[in-house]
Amino acid sequence: MEHLLRVAAAHAADYRASLTDRPVRARLSGAELKAGFARPLGAAGRPASDVLADLVEAADGGLVASAGPRYFGFVNGGSLPSATAAEIVATGWDQNGWNGVLSPTAAAAEETAGTWLKDVLGIPATASTGFVTGAQAGNTVGLAAARNHVLAQAGWDVERLGLAGAPRVRILASEERHGTIDRSLRLLGFGTEAITPVRTDAQGALDIEDLSQKLDPGNKGPLIVCLQAGNVNTGAVDPLEAAIALVRAYGGWTHIDGAFGLWAAASPRTKHLVKGLEGADSWSCDGHKWLNLPYDSGFAFCAHPTSHAAAMSYRAPYLVGAGDVYELGDFTPESSRRARGLAVWAGLQELGRDGVTELVDRCCELARRFADQLAAAGFEIGNDVVLNQVLVSYGDDATTDRVIEAVQRGGVCWMGGTTWHGRRYMRISVSNYLTTAADVDLSVEAITAAASA
Ligand SMILES: *Cc1c(COP(=O)(O)O)cnc(C)c1O
Repeated sequence: MEHLLRVAAAHAADYRASLTDRPVRARLSGAELKAGFARPLGAAGRPASDVLADLVEAADGGLVASAGPRYFGFVNGGSLPSATAAEIVATGWDQNGWNGVLSPTAAAAEETAGTWLKDVLGIPATASTGFVTGAQAGNTVGLAAARNHVLAQAGWDVERLGLAGAPRVRILASEERHGTIDRSLRLLGFGTEAITPVRTDAQGALDIEDLSQKLDPGNKGPLIVCLQAGNVNTGAVDPLEAAIALVRAYGGWTHIDGAFGLWAAASPRTKHLVKGLEGADSWSCDGHKWLNLPYDSGFAFCAHPTSHAAAMSYRAPYLVGAGDVYELGDFTPESSRRARGLAVWAGLQELGRDGVTELVDRCCELARRFADQLAAAGFEIGNDVVLNQVLVSYGDDATTDRVIEAVQRGGVCWMGGTTWHGRRYMRISVSNYLTTAADVDLSVEAITAAASA
């Protein structure tokens, strides 16, 4: 075991060292990779060191260098050295993060990391924190707490009675909400038809006038409004302060999906975008995107810890802490899980407050650098670059798709495509702590070469 773990760590280190030189895309096709993995499962086991060697060999050609500096697809982020190392050690420790009895270390790390996260993001210190798998789970947990809370206010215990026969909950969310909001609402038994869509402005931020009109003044029943900090195409943020004030007047619950955009709060230059976020009732945010933590790392914060725990917790005779003392597992949908807080603790320590600010500022600056250079090269920028997201068109839809494909194939960098307001765009997300101005310049070169070809 001891030797094997050293070999494993060396593989990880070698891979990281190769990141700037290897093509960003995967080398092999899906079919080629599957052939490498698809071998008979023998009746007899094999030595662990042989298994690791085979695994590394089978995996290599399909690895995408998304941890490296020139991956701009989706909204991804890499993983900081300390957080990566913490994850490796945590795997060795094999702690169960369910509660403080199973792992006092996991509990202590998450308590402190949660405090730091709230502080950096400007979320009230009294909010509860669930360490979840990502913003998808953060949305589910936040909206589960919302469901509990608004129905309890209407005299309905949804945890006991379920939704059948419950008072109708009005749910509003912008037309540009992330798809995970719909999945969370489906998982919670609401169904997507329960959502009243709210119009957005040209950048995809919620139209406050339309929200105001759709909040029927005659109806003071249970109400949940989903807001967004960071549109996945444009980076636009909903008008949080105004929307929260409006919804509060109706006694409603506001949930913010801030998977990456909530980090705007960490910099004086972008803080104004998320002004008023502290007034929400629940927040979902990712650690594995802009904070550059390893997968899977996300956070569900809730201003109403009792509702949060009521929606998530269960009691069993062998669970200590039963009663009024909340445990980690009372704020997540899982029971047994990884000690997720260790990597969060490490990553935040490595960056420090100033490091988080600098990371946010640098990614925004580099996104503007992309936009400026590509505009200067004659291409059309499709959004106001307010955060780390850039949309670029290279002409008609087919041409844009061809450029995206050629850039991906070239392997210098990787960007995906998107359809925004009926047109195809290349979508650039600058979210990696390793990315420098030189990486942007190199990528712009690759893009302009692909476009002129
Ligand atoms: C990425 C993203 C999500 C989903 O987050 P996961 O970490 O993939 O679960 C939700 N909302 C927004 C706005 C996102 O960008």
